[in-house]
Amino acid sequence: MLNINSITNGIVIDHISPGNGIKIYYMLELDKADYTVALIMNAQSKKHGCKDMIKIENVLDLDLTALGVMDSNITINLIKDERISEKINLELPHHVEGVLECNNPRCVSTSERNIVHRFSLVDKEKRLYKCDYCDHLYNVED
Ligand SMILES: [Zn+2]
Repeated sequence: MLNINSITNGIVIDHISPGNGIKIYYMLELDKADYTVALIMNAQSKKHGCKDMIKIENVLDLDLTALGVMDSNITINLIKDERISEKINLELPHHVEGVLECNNPRCVSTSERNIVHRFSLVDKEKRLYKCDYCDHLYNVED
């Protein structure tokens, strides 16, 4: 099995559903990062079979709020001096930009290329978002 050394300082994004790791990698623009990033796909998880993981070295101030929309099972640990200094609980953000995409063909964000898709949370329990442009509702669980 592939062994990836634990990091001394940084962020570990864990319990990502298999296949979502690469999406999160691009969503956080880690492909453009000038720091060390490890994307681990299909790692063995004791609890849930397979999972993806992302380890980011020497960065602690990344904006991770959009991850709550992608995958509610994700856990995030901030690592300092090889110890977990903080566990971040993901909550659904009130507003997201460029994460969800509206698929209403009559929506202005679908027809105009240079409009950023924007959504607002309308129901936290039901994980329901609405498109800011056309008010179409989306459940982010699926
Ligand atoms: Zn829309």
